Amino acid sequence: MPSDEALQNLDLYQLDDLLTQSQRDHRDRVRTWVESKAAPLLPTAYEDDGFPKELIQQMAPLGVFGTTIRGYGCPGLDALTYGLMMQELEAGDSALRTCASVQGALAMSAIAIFGSEQQKDHWLPELAKGQQLGCFGLTEPNHGSDPGSMETSAQRQGDQWILNGAKTWIGHATFADIAVIWAKVQKDSADKNHNAAAIRGFLVPTNTEGFSTTKIQGKLSLRASVTGEIQLTNCAIDASSILPGAEGLDGPLTCLDQARYGIAFGVVGAAQSCFKQARTHALERFQFGKPLARFQLVQAKLADMATKITQAQVTCLRLSQLKEEGRATTVQISLAKRANVEIALDVARQARDLLGGSGILNENQVMRHLCNLESVRTYEGTHDIHTLILGRSLTNISAFR
Ligand SMILES: Cc1cc2nc3c(=O)[nH]c(=O)nc-3n(C[C@H](O)[C@H](O)[C@H](O)COP(=O)(O)OP(=O)(O)OC[C@H]3O[C@@H](n4cnc5c(N)ncnc54)[C@H](O)[C@@H]3O)c2cc1C
Repeated sequence: MPSDEALQNLDLYQLDDLLTQSQRDHRDRVRTWVESKAAPLLPTAYEDDGFPKELIQQMAPLGVFGTTIRGYGCPGLDALTYGLMMQELEAGDSALRTCASVQGALAMSAIAIFGSEQQKDHWLPELAKGQQLGCFGLTEPNHGSDPGSMETSAQRQGDQWILNGAKTWIGHATFADIAVIWAKVQKDSADKNHNAAAIRGFLVPTNTEGFSTTKIQGKLSLRASVTGEIQLTNCAIDASSILPGAEGLDGPLTCLDQARYGIAFGVVGAAQSCFKQARTHALERFQFGKPLARFQLVQAKLADMATKITQAQVTCLRLSQLKEEGRATTVQISLAKRANVEIALDVARQARDLLGGSGILNENQVMRHLCNLESVRTYEGTHDIHTLILGRSLTNISAFR
């Protein structure tokens, strides 16, 4: 019989024993913060369709922004600690993990991996402290799964780049201070240092003239996270705002790998939270004179949920080892993102069912997790796109087009 603690946070394979004390401490600090400070605000944030921005300053000292980035005032922690932190954030709401993913895995990673020393010195310390906020503009109205066909353009004019185009579905777009914008450098741009046809990344301060945003209204998923559109109209930025190290689609895809890794862990947190609620409900709710947990059909649902979560946890642990050794491949990360989001969705759906009518209440979380996970299934590469990534590696045949 597993201990109460192992059941409470669902650790049937005693994976906790494999963590260092530091990893446990970081995870537990985020867990305590989510439970005590964030969770009380989340149901209302979800109803109000907005992110409680006051949380950002509280999140930064936990080390959740740019967790694995070393130097430049960033936490510099290991890959498993990063994953465990994302797990705890998403146990509260996918919006919390999304906040850390957009800021750390997308915006900060782009700068840390591809930026100049001057860009890193300027942006990373403030972003790590949550004093500046970043967003990551890759998706366009006409190009989601196929960002390589993007239309946003960058044209070199003297000491400036002129950006034109539109981005959509961009997390934090409406309140970010800096946007990492991916754009195609036009062929007539006379920048002899760069391949003129390539996709390049640009650091665009959001107060630049010609940069405007609109909040996307009417979302029925991830409502506690703000998502927006970005319009770039003759947006002129300094020539030094280009990310020197990123050329081609590999630039944004490298950042997506970092975020997808965090999602693979994060959704385990959402699933654990759903399981916890379902198990408690099954033990406390009586029907036909007995607790729900007494019925075999209910036990079968709990057994399914626990098995799937354990599989997802084991996948994450091994992935973290590969990542720490610098060996995690895009395919391995895709596999984990795809499989674990699907597991979390299944678990959330079963938990929703087990809670009966009360399962649709916002305050009981499971429906909120279920709705959120539909977005998580779509962003950072849809389920299908990850299927194609896996399919290509299994057959050596690309079925993308
Ligand atoms: C809440 C939210 C936040 C987001 N945040 C960001 C962000 O911060 N920055 C950013 O740049 N983007 C962001 N996105 C965008 C996200 O990455 C895209 O929504 C995603 O890539 C899918 O693109 P699309 O919505 O245009 O769908 P489409 O690409 O049009 O896909 C529609 C359907 O067609 C399928 N499909 C597409 N191509 C193929 C194919 N070749 N074979 C088989 N099936 C295919 C897809 O799997 C999907 O089921 C966010 C999205 C959401 C919902």
